[in-house]
Amino acid sequence: MTTPKDCLNYINGQWLPARSKATLESRNPADWRQLVATFPRSEAADVDAAVEAARKAYSTWRLVPAPARADFIYRVGELLLERKEELAQLMSREMGKAIAEARGDVQEGIDCALYYAGEGRRLFGQTTTSEMPNKFAMTVRMPIGVCALITPWNFPLAIPCWKALPALVCGNTVILKPAGDTPACATLLVQIFHDAGLSKGVINLVHGFGSEVGKALVEHPGIDLVSFTGSSETGAEIGATCGRTHKRVCLELGGKNAQIVMEDGDLELALEGAVWGAFGTTGQRCTATSRLILHRDIKDKFTAMLLERTAKLRLGAGIDPNTDLGPLVNVAQLQRVSGYLEVAHVEGSKVLIGGKIANDGDLKHGFFFQPTILDNVTPNMSIAREEIFGPVVSLIKVNSFEEAIKVVNDTPYGLSSSVYTRDVNRAFQAMRDIEAGITYINGPTIGAEVHLPFGGVKQTGNGHREAGSAALDVFTEWKSVYVDFSGRLQRAQIDNH
Ligand code: NDP
Repeated sequence: MTTPKDCLNYINGQWLPARSKATLESRNPADWRQLVATFPRSEAADVDAAVEAARKAYSTWRLVPAPARADFIYRVGELLLERKEELAQLMSREMGKAIAEARGDVQEGIDCALYYAGEGRRLFGQTTTSEMPNKFAMTVRMPIGVCALITPWNFPLAIPCWKALPALVCGNTVILKPAGDTPACATLLVQIFHDAGLSKGVINLVHGFGSEVGKALVEHPGIDLVSFTGSSETGAEIGATCGRTHKRVCLELGGKNAQIVMEDGDLELALEGAVWGAFGTTGQRCTATSRLILHRDIKDKFTAMLLERTAKLRLGAGIDPNTDLGPLVNVAQLQRVSGYLEVAHVEGSKVLIGGKIANDGDLKHGFFFQPTILDNVTPNMSIAREEIFGPVVSLIKVNSFEEAIKVVNDTPYGLSSSVYTRDVNRAFQAMRDIEAGITYINGPTIGAEVHLPFGGVKQTGNGHREAGSAALDVFTEWKSVYVDFSGRLQRAQIDNH
């Protein structure tokens, strides 16, 4: 067993305990007896100190040329690469994901660093004509100020990188409040920013409960922007506070993603996609495949193939390279998923496989749930509409492609979607008609790449996108600049008409 880490806050370039000295614990979800780390239970006073440091640092960081800011981001990428295995092992122990996926999570951070390091030499604006003679017009991206980044536990490295790296390259300073389930991953990440040589106050880390430290951050008058990924409930509360206090807010919330399999699709390929999409990260991805929408002609055959494959999946500690599905992250997630199985029963769906907590042998000290397939699901059931966030997939039978699209769209969410078909007309119709931020053709609902926009429609978010150049629109404001070199007053809309 590895020695537990004593994590601290990182404020103004210093590693500090909470002012109250109170601490919390992070434990291994595959074996609750193992302590992974202790971390500070911070309060409003710690938030005040972090905001003060970030505000002070902002006045100088915003003036550092963007290519020089990008040099730090590039260094972060190099250090992430050097420490990739250490980070992946820690992540697997701290939140349970299979080690290959944990390496992928770190790789996403590295990809992100390389992408945004390049952005330091772009940050393009526009130059355009003026309606007046001897006048020049252009747009420039301006940083926003101090950004609060509130992140979940399912991608403990990638999501903080998605937020912090574009925020910093654009000239903002940041305060990270990571999930209480993954404080050690966040601490190691911030250690890497420290080692990359960022000046004090540019990045700050405040651990603690969301309901205490997260809330204090969102409400703080010294915060200019909040970027949040997590549940719809918490997102709604944060959105309301930011509306009331006039803060910019970017919300990435839930999903109820669907994969369509049509009768003309490649069933073997669709099977690979369905298993990976539904059970990867134990279903704890906002892009997880939660519904399989199957054409009636292939429904029975595809269901049999899926059952056979699901029966072979191995549950275990993520750190074991033979594990396909790690544990759920905590007891609340286990209760949530179990609760949805009760709902599934009451609503009249049928459990084809799984459906129960797994606690035999080596699993008895962890939060394991069997990979589960529910049949006879109809689009109006709550299990077909609400985010479960576990290894549970619902099968919905449809009679036509048009019906499949209608069912995909029949949820309050709109994050990811997928269709398996060999018909190019159907593929293009799906791209056009599915109400989602992401559509995959002949690929699963998971697998976003860092240089494309990430986010969803309807209740999945509030219209913003993360990743790619779209993230720059979150972390900057446009300024329009007019330079009049005529030497006289020129009145727009008046003197030229
Ligand atoms: P939350 O939305 O509650 O937590 C996400 C982050 O917000 C954490 O850092 C949390 O801190 C923080 N937080 C919690 N309450 C507040 C608040 N009032 N003000 C500011 N910050 C706050 O999600 P949970 O971890 O509780 O998971 C519950 C459900 O959310 C899951 O079952 C899943 O459906 C969904 N979820 C979706 C994710 C996605 O990727 N879209 C990711 C994670 C969860 P702390 O950890 O200390 O509570």
